[in-house]
Amino acid sequence: MTLREIKKSVRVLNSRQLMKLDAWLHELIDACESKKRDRAVTSRQIVEEHKTANKTYRLEEVRCGKKNCHCAEGKLHGPYWYAYWSERGRTKSQYVGKKLPQGVRSAMS
Ligand SMILES: [Zn+2]
Repeated sequence: MTLREIKKSVRVLNSRQLMKLDAWLHELIDACESKKRDRAVTSRQIVEEHKTANKTYRLEEVRCGKKNCHCAEGKLHGPYWYAYWSERGRTKSQYVGKKLPQGVRSAMS
C-alpha cells in the first residue's frame, strides 16, 4: 500500500475515528523515535534549567554516540542550550545554541 492509497482510504473516516488515528500515529512515532534514540547511545547531562511561560530551556552537555569521538571518553559536547515545549501532547525540542537569545533571560522566572 502506498501512502497515497492510505490517505485516500483515511478520507472516509469520521472526525472521531480520525482523532483516534491521530493519537495512534503519535504513539507509533514516539515508539519509533525512542527506538532510534536507543540505538545511538546519546546521552545528555542537564547543567542548568530555566522555565518561561511556554518553554523550558535546558543547558545540556551531549554525548553524540560516535565511538571515536572525544565525548565517548567523557569529554562531552557543549554545553548547549535546548528549548523544550509541549505541542498537542508531544514534547518538542529545538537546538538553541551556546547562548540563550536575548529576551529569554528576561522572561525567566
Ligand atoms: Zn561526540
